Amino acid sequence: VDFLRNLFSSTLGLGSADKVLDELTLDGVARYIKSGKCKNIICMVGAGISTSAGIPDFRSPGTGLYANLQKYNLPYPEAIFQIDYFKVRSSPCCFLFDFYQPTICHYFMKMLKDKGLLKRCYTQNIDTLERVAGLEGDDLIEAHGTFYTSHCVSFCCRKEYNLDWMKEKIFSDDIPRCDKCSSLVKPDIVFFGENLPVRFFTSMKMDFPRCDLLIVMGTSLQVQPFAGLVGRVSKSCPRLLINMEKAGQADPLFGLLGFGGGMDFDSDKAYRDVAHISTCDDGCLALADLLGWKVELEELVKQEHAQIDSQDKKEKAGGKSEAAKSSSASVAPEPKKEE
Ligand SMILES: [Zn+2]
Repeated sequence: VDFLRNLFSSTLGLGSADKVLDELTLDGVARYIKSGKCKNIICMVGAGISTSAGIPDFRSPGTGLYANLQKYNLPYPEAIFQIDYFKVRSSPCCFLFDFYQPTICHYFMKMLKDKGLLKRCYTQNIDTLERVAGLEGDDLIEAHGTFYTSHCVSFCCRKEYNLDWMKEKIFSDDIPRCDKCSSLVKPDIVFFGENLPVRFFTSMKMDFPRCDLLIVMGTSLQVQPFAGLVGRVSKSCPRLLINMEKAGQADPLFGLLGFGGGMDFDSDKAYRDVAHISTCDDGCLALADLLGWKVELEELVKQEHAQIDSQDKKEKAGGKSEAAKSSSASVAPEPKKEE
């Protein structure tokens, strides 16, 4: 019955708007998490959670990825993600395969998982750092796809390839072609002009009505349909934004069209939305501190980074093919290579 009520309240805009947080601050959110009433946390994350890892946010002018793409002579920046362009020239995607380390924010989500609180992480990022930090396929909805796996584009074949296979092709400047049928092999990222993964839509319908706390991090909530997800939780579900600026607020002119789903941090009617203006790492550390998890989080980050560093060194010593083997060893078993 609870589920149905939440479902109706989120899809039809009905239901009560209970005030769950005793205070619209990070402290209020922390007390709610500690109360034990908050069992299903959904994280929605964007490029801002990976910037401290050194991955450029491709929309920020001057420093962003788009700005760094000039050397590839792209007709226009989005072409790097466009399927037609990828067919003739895969090398510009190379930069995505450098060794990046997940951030404090990524490991904070891993802690939520370990404590049994993470319902799901919806990410717009394709850098796979959520997986490197220890979230698994089932924990994740990669709304814009992932470089983690690739598939043969032939509908009769669809053979799957892993990240290392793709890395080898791209580093050797080969056009990635299927071993079985010679068709193009394409990373499972959502290219411009392609649909979002089906799982995005099916999971969304199941997850959001059940959500007890939505944490939105590092996204300006401007890309649909991702941005609209904030309006899919029940009316009493608190929403915490950790970002460098406020985002997702209802447009006063169009407020009625969005099922009233926009964020309201400041008005007289505000009752559930909290904006914590900071970097994602600082925000997660502050929240972890309030939860009494700070030492544990810092320890986790230290250990994991040390492990990635030592692996990185081994790979550099072992040459490229060794690199391919050991980088996948920690994340997933690798299918046998056919050579
Ligand atoms: Zn094939």
